[in-house]
Amino acid sequence: MQTKLFINGEFVDSIARGRIAVLNPYDNSQICEISEARAEDVDLAVEFASEAQRSWGRSDASGRGRLLLKLADAIEANAEELIQLESRDTGHPVRDARKLDVPRTAACFRYFGGMADKFEGFLPPVYPGYVNYVSREPVGVVGQIVPWNFPLMFTSWKMAPALAAGNAIVIKPAELTPLTTLRVAELMKEVGFPAGVVNVVPGYGHTAGARLAEHPDVKKIAFTGSTATGRRIVQASAGNLKKVQLELGGKGPNIVFADAVIPAAVGGSAWAIFHNQGQACIAGSRLVLHEKIADEFLQKFTALAKSIRLGNPLEEATEMGPLTSKQHQERVLHFAGVAKKEGGEILLGGKAPEREDLAKGCFVEPTIVRAKVDDTVNQEEVFGPFVTVTTFRDDDEALAIANNVKYGLGSGLWTTNLSRAHKMAREINAGMVWVNSYKVVHPGSPFGGVGESGYGREMGFEAMREYTYPKSVWVNVDAQVVPHYQR
Ligand code: NAD
Repeated sequence: MQTKLFINGEFVDSIARGRIAVLNPYDNSQICEISEARAEDVDLAVEFASEAQRSWGRSDASGRGRLLLKLADAIEANAEELIQLESRDTGHPVRDARKLDVPRTAACFRYFGGMADKFEGFLPPVYPGYVNYVSREPVGVVGQIVPWNFPLMFTSWKMAPALAAGNAIVIKPAELTPLTTLRVAELMKEVGFPAGVVNVVPGYGHTAGARLAEHPDVKKIAFTGSTATGRRIVQASAGNLKKVQLELGGKGPNIVFADAVIPAAVGGSAWAIFHNQGQACIAGSRLVLHEKIADEFLQKFTALAKSIRLGNPLEEATEMGPLTSKQHQERVLHFAGVAKKEGGEILLGGKAPEREDLAKGCFVEPTIVRAKVDDTVNQEEVFGPFVTVTTFRDDDEALAIANNVKYGLGSGLWTTNLSRAHKMAREINAGMVWVNSYKVVHPGSPFGGVGESGYGREMGFEAMREYTYPKSVWVNVDAQVVPHYQR
């Protein structure tokens, strides 16, 4: 297991030799200690990245692509180890890590490996006598900051397009969950990425993260995390006016219409909120039910939620693991108290499970709360296995409830009426809308939000645009023609 910083192709101790303990949230036992990067380590990493980027940015795009493809193969070859590591570090059930996190990580590196030599500039038809071509240039050194909820997958979402486009990277994983990002760095070294092109600096947000966001030689900062930190990133970026991309919080509405296929809507809605213990920015955390089907739906949904198997995430049968930290568990439980205080009704859960085998871990029972649309739990992101329920009478009311938040990230609709589906998809304030499904992602489809969920997009061609800037080159085709002051 790698526990040191990865700078200029080597695993090295941090300058101040600080340490961060990494815990297993299943029982809060210590997995290891890692080196803690601080501002001076970030500075060093940026220096090496700046040097490496000069040749990486001018290198053969197909060569960059080939390295990403090799990395995807290496991820697959080491899948089982990555699954176990991610599960111990985050609490993700291994069954999810095996089915989703690791394959999606490999798929993302592979997609952008293929993209590297296919992302083209263009040639606008301009004035006669001129050729104008527009190339896509790498931004330079990119700072990337990721959260703890999907550390491995988000590492690939951030790294893959940036590298395909010819940028060098300094990435800061979350202090709670640095282990799989460090393992990916090791695999990158093995498959032959040049030294300095990727640097990993695990450390705290207010030190290492803040330095990366303000660093004058970092030309872009790509951040995934909370809206509050996103605001700080924007402020820190002002010094050199670096490009900023923000993937922030969400409060996804998940609307079930009276014409929905109820069993599919029940299963899909449970997945929307309970997968990864609800620690997902796109989680369908607000169930919005048509009053005609609300009772039937809730009865089936509650029964399903009760049947979810909580347990050790390393066991194959476990469907729900612990939250990723004690502090976060307390935060989620606190929201149950807030809901009650504001007149909400806890229909299920709202507490830690009373099971001896889970007592040391950061568990929260699947929680269902009936709450008014303006209640705190319907407005603030809880980021746990915690779903609110409200009801509506007609489509206008459903839409008003859906759009009654400051966020706009994921959203879901369950209906068999085609025109209703398209109309709602058009009107809903969200970066992503799932119809009769939820949480489907693909490296080819843009991912990101509107409003206080941030700006910029990951995945697909959009991500390549985010990690490049257009350079417009004007060529006067007849060098003899003097364009101005002709005498
Ligand atoms: P967070 O904002 O506390 O931390 C995210 C990262 O930012 C961590 O690496 C942290 O160390 C770093 N950080 C903290 N303070 C910083 C500072 N001042 N300067 C620079 N970096 C700093 O968020 P979190 O609690 O770790 O993650 C959960 C949040 O992430 C939720 O709000 C969730 O919705 C959001 N999220 C968004 C998306 C998306 O794609 N939109 C995806 C996943 C998670």
